[in-house]
Amino acid sequence: MVADKSYPTSAEAKDILLKEYPVKTARKRAKGIILNDPEMPPEVAANTRTIPGIITQRGCTYAGCKGVVLGPTRDILNLVHGPIGCSFYAWLTRRNQTRPTGPEEDNFIPYCLSTDMAESEIIFGGEKKLAQAIREAYAAFKPKAIGVFSTCPVGLIGDDVHTVARQMSAELGINIFGFSCEGYKGVSQSAGHHIANNQLMKHVVGKSDTVKEGKYRINMLGEYNIGGDAFVIEDLLERCGITLQASFSGNSTYDQFASAQNADLNVVMCHRSINYVADMLDKKYGIPWFKVNFIGAHSTAKSLRKIAEYFKSPELSERVEKVIAEEMEAVNAVIAEVRPRTEGKTAMLFVGGSRAHHYQDLFKELGMTTLAAGYEFAHRDDYEGRRVIPDIKVDADSRNIEELDIKADPELYRPRKSEAEMQAFAAEGFEFKDYTGMMPEMDKDTLVIDDISHAEAHRLVEMYHPSVFCAGIKEKYVIQKMGIPLKQLHSYDYGGPYAGFKGAINYYRDIDRITNMRIWERVKAPWQKNPELKASYGK
Ligand code: SF4
Repeated sequence: MVADKSYPTSAEAKDILLKEYPVKTARKRAKGIILNDPEMPPEVAANTRTIPGIITQRGCTYAGCKGVVLGPTRDILNLVHGPIGCSFYAWLTRRNQTRPTGPEEDNFIPYCLSTDMAESEIIFGGEKKLAQAIREAYAAFKPKAIGVFSTCPVGLIGDDVHTVARQMSAELGINIFGFSCEGYKGVSQSAGHHIANNQLMKHVVGKSDTVKEGKYRINMLGEYNIGGDAFVIEDLLERCGITLQASFSGNSTYDQFASAQNADLNVVMCHRSINYVADMLDKKYGIPWFKVNFIGAHSTAKSLRKIAEYFKSPELSERVEKVIAEEMEAVNAVIAEVRPRTEGKTAMLFVGGSRAHHYQDLFKELGMTTLAAGYEFAHRDDYEGRRVIPDIKVDADSRNIEELDIKADPELYRPRKSEAEMQAFAAEGFEFKDYTGMMPEMDKDTLVIDDISHAEAHRLVEMYHPSVFCAGIKEKYVIQKMGIPLKQLHSYDYGGPYAGFKGAINYYRDIDRITNMRIWERVKAPWQKNPELKASYGK
């Protein structure tokens, strides 16, 4: 936290945030509002139910399944079983981009398909309508696979999407699978990520034996190609001589998922949405994994070097160093130009399950300070590190999500590194299967707030006047009416890509523009100009 007398201390700020809540609510929220200690991160109450009445940033489980994980895949036809509103809400709002290899390749991303469930299906059941919708969708598009997504009403009335999917798969001869991702299934979209990934593991991965050409084959897990991020990363990998076998799921295809078992390494970008898939691919096929971060120039360089180190190839390391040197020239030139204008400015980040962590690297490169940060759908390990996973209490909400029992595949399991090689890596301090979390990389006493409410965000902005507030569309106009710019880190507003070196340059320039724009001083919300109604909560 910046030492400035005009700011309240973090402890004072925490008291201010809590004082307006009723006693029970304040007690609960206090466990999610933490003063950081990077040496020994305190426990954060994360992945717990949002208290009713609080305006949360979170999305529903269906949004995490259909919107986040399957949304960026171009040739699996996504059919939503539910009321039309759920489909409209998840239609193209994340700005996922994709790049088909030619005009003959399927791209269903621009489409929005729904069974448009109405009153009669709620009363008499919607399975027949779903089967008919699958037939119609198949006749119109001839896809190689169809995913069927359940929304809240489907779970409430008990439609069996899995049986319908199986029957239609037999009738049409293509892979059709359902997702029990009803919006209420978990406390946030995180449950939806898990449901989506489980089904991909069960119904798709391992079905194709395509092996892409190349000596260094990797899968990229937890990268979703917002604003073209994946294109930047793909270009970097290609120039380094690294082959991307499959991406989960930015710019991905059905065949990529189906042949993911043929990579020799899994690298994980967003730990939250997919770390369990990395574990499953390791157990089932013998593919090791580690965490990478392609947000921030220095993190990108570190990630590329770690991939090269894993393959133990001097030729690969040389190519990686050459690419880094080429790219850093432009990065350093832009930092030298921009940093005098951004140095000392401040940021708050409340977004995602890894973005609030990753984007702090870009702010550091600009000489900016993170005043407060938190996630909307993270679990404790995303804050405190993977070491706490064994201590995380499994509650009824978590038990709702199926834990797959994964065993080594009798034919396809092939350990990519021998025991001796893994021991040599350990002796060198090379870390696999680890993630230190956000808190060890943040300053002492910085505020860490899980599932921040709109009221808390409002008070924070009043207290600290950050130079920029990073969150999503639900917060955007609330914060901007207070005269503080908000940068969306789900959809990037209309900007991006922000990944890799080129993306870092885009981000530096966007943040320079945003934080030095004078317009924000002139913004006056209607209630600042005219008298407002006042009310108080009766405790
Ligand atoms: S919460 Fe339920 S009804 Fe609302 S969008 Fe999600 S699935 Fe649809």
